[in-house]
This record gives sequence, structure tokens and C-alpha cells, in this order.
Amino acid sequence: MTEVPGTEQILKADLVLLAMGFVSPVAAVLEAFDVEKDGRGNARASTDFMGGYATSVDKVFAAGDMRRGQSLVVWAIREGRQAARAVDEFLMGSSDLPR
Ligand SMILES: Cc1cc2nc3c(=O)[nH]c(=O)nc-3n(C[C@H](O)[C@H](O)[C@H](O)COP(=O)(O)OP(=O)(O)OC[C@H]3O[C@@H](n4cnc5c(N)ncnc54)[C@H](O)[C@@H]3O)c2cc1C
Repeated sequence: MTEVPGTEQILKADLVLLAMGFVSPVAAVLEAFDVEKDGRGNARASTDFMGGYATSVDKVFAAGDMRRGQSLVVWAIREGRQAARAVDEFLMGSSDLPR
């Protein structure tokens, strides 16, 4: 989001709610782990069959809105399942979990 000069308006209001969707995850959490972010501020991680959902930081995985950006719950469920398998493979060397 960028400010557009000359478009300012003053509106009277008793209550203002900022409903800003699609503005990336809370940066402080990613920065606390020093996780590399993509161009939209999400945790950078692939969905590759091998090594997917792993971030730039060893043993830190990301899935769902944190990785993809704000999206749909069906994507979050899919990514959660696939990430669980990726973590299982990472820990155990192989996994029987469905992908
Ligand atoms: C208002 C709104 C309406 C939506 N409507 C729809 C819809 O109609 N249909 C649809 O398909 N999708 C909808 N979505 C999108 C959908 O809800 C998300 O894509 C989905 O919930 C993402 O799942 P997630 O598990 O990736 O993240 P989340 O569901 O956001 O889960 C992340 C979890 O991490 C927790 N957390 C955060 N920080 C920390 C921390 N520091 N320590 C521990 N826990 C932490 C949070 O409390 C949360 O429980 C909507 C989203 C919003 C905000």
C-alpha cells in the first residue's frame, strides 16, 4: 500500500475500525526467528515434495496464511497436512502421512 498524494479526506466518525486484509503476517514473529520473507512479507518456503514448507531457518516450517498470504481455509488445511508430512519426514527420514 502506498499513499497517493492529494487524495486525503476528512470524515466525521465516532469509531474507526481498520479492516486491512492482505497485509502479511505479523513481522515481529518472523523476525524473532530471523525467517527470510518473500516480496509480500510472508515466510518464504516452497511446497516442493521434498523439503517443502521448510523456511530459511533450520527446523522452522511455515504453512497456510503465514507462508501463502491471506487466503482460503481449504488452502490452509491442505498446507497444514502437507507441512505435517514434511516435518515428519524431516524428523523421521520418511513419512506414512498422506500428502
Ligand atoms: C475475517 C476473515 C474472514 C474469512 N473468511 C473466510 C471464508 O469465508 N472462507 C475461507 O475459506 N477463508 C476465509 N478466511 C481465511 C481463513 O480464515 C484463513 O485462510 C485460514 O484461517 C488460515 O489458516 P492458518 O492456519 O494458516 O492461520 P490461522 O487460522 O490464522 O491460524 C494461526 C494461529 O496461530 C496463532 N498464533 C499467532 N501468533 C502466535 C504466537 N506468537 N504464538 C502462538 N500462536 C500464535 C493464532 O492465534 C492462530 O490460532 C477468512 C479470514 C478472515 C480474517
